[in-house]
Amino acid sequence: MRITAAVLEQIDTQTVPHRITLEQIELDDPRDDEVLVRVISCGVCGTDRGCLHGVEPYPTPGVLGHEAAGVVEAVGRNVTRVHNGDRVMIGFPFCGRCYRCLRGEQRYCEKNRDLTFSGYRLDGSGGMRRRNGEELAGRFFQQSSWATHTVALEQQLARVPDSIELEMAGPYGCSISTGAGTVLNELRPEPGTSLAVFGAGNVGLAAVMAARLTSVEHIIVIDKVPERLALARELGATHTFHASSDTVEEIKELTRHRLDYAIEATNGANLVADAVAALGMRGTCAVVGGSSPSAKVTLKHADLLGHGKRLIGVMGGGGQTPAFLESLMALQGQGRFPLEKLVRFYDFADVNRAIDDSDAGITIKPILRMPA
Ligand SMILES: [Zn+2]
Ligand SMILES: [Zn+2]
Repeated sequence: MRITAAVLEQIDTQTVPHRITLEQIELDDPRDDEVLVRVISCGVCGTDRGCLHGVEPYPTPGVLGHEAAGVVEAVGRNVTRVHNGDRVMIGFPFCGRCYRCLRGEQRYCEKNRDLTFSGYRLDGSGGMRRRNGEELAGRFFQQSSWATHTVALEQQLARVPDSIELEMAGPYGCSISTGAGTVLNELRPEPGTSLAVFGAGNVGLAAVMAARLTSVEHIIVIDKVPERLALARELGATHTFHASSDTVEEIKELTRHRLDYAIEATNGANLVADAVAALGMRGTCAVVGGSSPSAKVTLKHADLLGHGKRLIGVMGGGGQTPAFLESLMALQGQGRFPLEKLVRFYDFADVNRAIDDSDAGITIKPILRMPA
């Protein structure tokens, strides 16, 4: 079928900006285990921007977008969980067959890298092409949903409860569940503990909202943008610090050297060493912010061994994908997870402005609205 998609012609750099243009393209029908979704809205995530700017790898020409919400328009003949007309959002892709998937750890699917960044299905086939026949890398996270329609795997879909607006649901698929899942699935802070979130973007602020649902005592947020720190306080941060060379000492003083948990949620993983240094004895630092595959982290050996600290990577918030996403959306419906405070909507045609505003830190969670 003919659809409109935001095509990335080549990697966007400072000298060659705005290489995304809306274009009419062809979308293949869903296969037996796939679903055609009419996209209502799609978030702009740090990983989209990472690929767009060449920090993370993605082939061009291609279509980005991996935080879609929409309505099911057609299903493959083996699809049983969703039906035409269902309100859905598209979460992380996973193969469902590997060692990790069979253990219920779909976010750590062994095929994750290929499913997310190759731009194609595992068998190498695509699904989007230009009208002149040129193949597009149109399976970003198996959804490439900066588009009016897309095809995704049945297993990556979650139902959107009636209690929330459909156009709000897409970001639960990646950035929001990454921040919230790190707190609720992985760190699980106990009463009386303290948690510091480095980076108050959409991932970090989702972690703050999730932390507020727990009995953690101190929720500390570090960022360099005053408006983000103010929003963090509104969402539940008990203390905020402007990022500086004094931050580690300030946190130690506040927590009496007993910081239990740190989440490094900056785009670029710039503050991992600070986050680990700020921890107290036996503290755990979760690295969740995206970065270049070749990026390195340097730590003081004594900071790990001397204090029994732990450093873990948490991908996509861990947890079982659709069930966890549905439970987070239900919390928003109850007013306990105010995602709407992070969001600003943009028309699809303004995709480049949404990216610029996100790059500049003006908008925390841009969501693109597709034309009706
Ligand atoms: Zn798998
Ligand atoms: Zn993402």
